[in-house]
Amino acid sequence: MEQRADAPRDLVLVINSGSSSLKYQLLRAGRAEVLTKGTIERIGEPDGVADHDAAMTAMTDQLADRDLHLDRLGVVAVGHRVVHGGERFSEPTVIDDAVVAAIDELSALAPLHNPPALAGIRAAQRMLPDVPHVAVFDTAFFTGLPEAARTYAVPTELAARHGIRRYGFHGTSHAYVSALAAETVGRPTEELDQIVLHLGNGCSASAIHHGAAVETSMGLTPLQGLVMGTRSGDVDPGLHGFLARTERLDAGAIDTLLNKQSGLKGLAGVNDFRELEQRRATGDAAAALAFAVYVHRIRCYVGAYLVTLGRLDTLVFTAGVGENNAALRAAVADGLDGFGIAVDPARNQAASGDPRVISPDGTAVTVLVVPTDEELAIARQAVALVG
Ligand code: AMP
Repeated sequence: MEQRADAPRDLVLVINSGSSSLKYQLLRAGRAEVLTKGTIERIGEPDGVADHDAAMTAMTDQLADRDLHLDRLGVVAVGHRVVHGGERFSEPTVIDDAVVAAIDELSALAPLHNPPALAGIRAAQRMLPDVPHVAVFDTAFFTGLPEAARTYAVPTELAARHGIRRYGFHGTSHAYVSALAAETVGRPTEELDQIVLHLGNGCSASAIHHGAAVETSMGLTPLQGLVMGTRSGDVDPGLHGFLARTERLDAGAIDTLLNKQSGLKGLAGVNDFRELEQRRATGDAAAALAFAVYVHRIRCYVGAYLVTLGRLDTLVFTAGVGENNAALRAAVADGLDGFGIAVDPARNQAASGDPRVISPDGTAVTVLVVPTDEELAIARQAVALVG
């Protein structure tokens, strides 16, 4: 495929580079048209590719097999998903050497996520040196959280020394979904109070007042808050010391336990929500409890954010579980009529890939399902930045 002279300058390659996989999408930001996408898996494993440079080469080969030649396509920007932008990055940023160094420094806060993102950035820069590379940060939407919401009650001097605060994650999704929810109800975000529930493998909630995030459930790391596929979400901070003393676990082992072996997996043995639902349908007690704990925690956050906002216009479900599981949505809204929150059973069950209202007509709060699209959001931000 060749770039036509009159084609819009909105073709973006979006890269989401993790430790063992590199996901890519080639899309036209203006038309929200995905030309192709794919994943290079098993980076650094014996049966996979050696490193992120090899993954980029594998991606280029996959594209060429589809008659898409990166050097001739007219890609206007490469958008990179970066998990941790710390306090410094509140906007999408063109990547230069100083930005690379800053992302590297932030690895202390996101040891699992920032190093592989950097490896992906460096490999992509070597592959496409003449195209601007743009970093879009998962934390950016939450950098302006009110001070009271972002501050942990730990010694101030210690917090300042290490940047210990609530950062929040999934920000690209929360921003995109809240804007699309506003469009769906036909009102500007600047007039709305919204709660967004991003429920996928990772789960997070946010409270958004007039377009600005005022609370979110994730914190210094993506471990805080809701119950997730393999992450515990909130536990008593005293659990860490308790486990260290009773199980003789060190910090790394406790990190692994709470990040990889907890959540739905820890409770029911499965982290995939579809599998959990299959087990629940057969009367599996552990699966039923896992579902109940998952719902209970979400409802605690919805209640807290109702008070944080003082009023509510929209309650929005998104990501794999939020978009696809009607039973979960019904359970979250159950008995909340007194707060103006209700779900219409037929609307809730209707299968659709479009943003849609699932509350009955005439309720105070509009409940919506809005499919998230982080790649499109990254592509649009990259195009907006490099023009
Ligand atoms: P995400 O991280 O947004 O890709 O979401 C992944 C989660 O969504 C997994 O737990 C999946 O089981 C869940 N999921 C995806 N599709 C469905 C579906 N059709 N019904 C229920 N859960 C789903």
